[in-house]
Amino acid sequence: MHELSIANSILEAVQAEAARRGGVCVRSVGVRVGEWSGVVPEALEFGFEALVKDTAWKSLKLQIERCPRRQRCTACGHEFAVDGYEWNCPACNSSQTVPISGDELEIAYLEVEGP
Ligand SMILES: [Zn+2]
Repeated sequence: MHELSIANSILEAVQAEAARRGGVCVRSVGVRVGEWSGVVPEALEFGFEALVKDTAWKSLKLQIERCPRRQRCTACGHEFAVDGYEWNCPACNSSQTVPISGDELEIAYLEVEGP
């Protein structure tokens, strides 16, 4: 399962960061998942829970922020969220648009215990 290995890399990154900060207790980790990243957020959540269950990290929460696909029009510079498969620029109707976001898969933040 693709999402399980991603969940594993997220956990490893959190553990490394916690160790780097002197063993702080991480309460939650925020992850940005683009609509077009190929990752199913529900499957990622499920995989993550299964992974931390019965470990010292069981209280760690995964918070997923979904990012919609956005395109920029190369003709007029307009930026817009893609609705379905409508790639044309809503401002000037040009079909020359390029993706600017929506395929993210990255850790956005860590929430740690204490001050
Ligand atoms: Zn345009």
